[in-house]
Amino acid sequence: MAVAMLEMRLKPGREKSVLRRHPWVFSGAVAHVHGEHAAGETTRLLSHAGEFLGWGAYSPISQIQARIWNWDADELIDEDFFCRRLRKILSQRKLLFQSECTDALRLVYGESDGLPGLIVDSYAGVLVAQFLSCGPEAWRIQLAQMLLELTGADSVYERSDADVRKLEGLPMRCGQLLGSDPPAVQVIQESGLIYGVDVRAGHKTGFYLDQRTNRRRVRSLAAGREVLDCFCYTGGFTLSALDGGASKVLAVDSSPDALAQAQKNLLLNQLDGSRVEWLQEDVFKALRALRDRGRLFDMIILDPPKFAPTAAQAQNAARGYKDINLLAFKLLRPGGLLVTYSCSGGVGEDLFQKIVAGAALDANVDGCILERLYQGPDHPVALSFPEGLYLKGLVVQVA
Ligand code: SAH
Repeated sequence: MAVAMLEMRLKPGREKSVLRRHPWVFSGAVAHVHGEHAAGETTRLLSHAGEFLGWGAYSPISQIQARIWNWDADELIDEDFFCRRLRKILSQRKLLFQSECTDALRLVYGESDGLPGLIVDSYAGVLVAQFLSCGPEAWRIQLAQMLLELTGADSVYERSDADVRKLEGLPMRCGQLLGSDPPAVQVIQESGLIYGVDVRAGHKTGFYLDQRTNRRRVRSLAAGREVLDCFCYTGGFTLSALDGGASKVLAVDSSPDALAQAQKNLLLNQLDGSRVEWLQEDVFKALRALRDRGRLFDMIILDPPKFAPTAAQAQNAARGYKDINLLAFKLLRPGGLLVTYSCSGGVGEDLFQKIVAGAALDANVDGCILERLYQGPDHPVALSFPEGLYLKGLVVQVA
């Protein structure tokens, strides 16, 4: 696999995005593929005129037919290439482990880190990897070995069970990949709190690492407030609010497993359980029931799952966001805070703000954006890959 004998030639004028260092080559831009390509194999990408553009990983059935590893004709895509790239990323992350006060971080964030399709999260020495496209899939054993060697971690667990693999024609695969078996619950520390993480069956790779900086923000805003935490998962925002001195928290999620882990996390931290109420319920229903009962809160957190993975689903997603934000505005006391997120790649920052503004208008509430929130610094956004930004949040104070 070290030397690519394969070539992919683009249609005339379709090299522009590649020259701007965007890593995706859509099938509609491809004129010809020369040679027998296996999925994930390295291909030489050429402009229509035959100029070298980059080395990419071939994805035969995906709409993204190649993802570019690098733009340097002289740098071969071999084990040394991946080792160099991983070393560079890990040395950047080293600083974050200290400044973020945690032993759990995203170590590799795909395209943004120059390794398209590869996600690696570290939970206190247990690495969890997702091989989301054919390129990293072809190198998965070598990548896992390098990761163990470079990090000194105990194990690499594979969670290649994300839906995007279907678009690549790859099967779902989960299980121990290298090293020792991780414990059923891996305990991590973050900003002075402790969380149990189920790397085998938890959401994503087990925990929402992307909200770390925002959990700290909630902690700093929660003192004395009565809080409603919607879509609480294993209690990240709930515990942060309690730790920050919230007078009460009502935490809602539809998943019994997530709520069970949230309650264990509360005990792990020896926080005062009498200040929390857990509710297993659909948030859309719970918000309506709270409105009908005339309940009011000083802070409401809305962190729903991805309603729109792509722009095509944005309209349906917009209805979902509008609905929960409108109800939340009605449940806030004057001066109350709405901390509202969208993790949908298909809903941009502008659209999200418009949806929230529309919800406030329909709820007959005036509000002001105090702060904009994003995914944490272990989920960086390459300037050439703006799609890397997916988590947007607003802190809105109502009049
Ligand atoms: N705020 C959490 C992450 C939330 S992830 C944290 O920081 O860790 C989204 C959560 O929404 C998941 O726990 C999922 O179980 C839950 N969920 C999805 N749809 C739901 C619905 N309609 N009602 C209630 N919970 C829902």
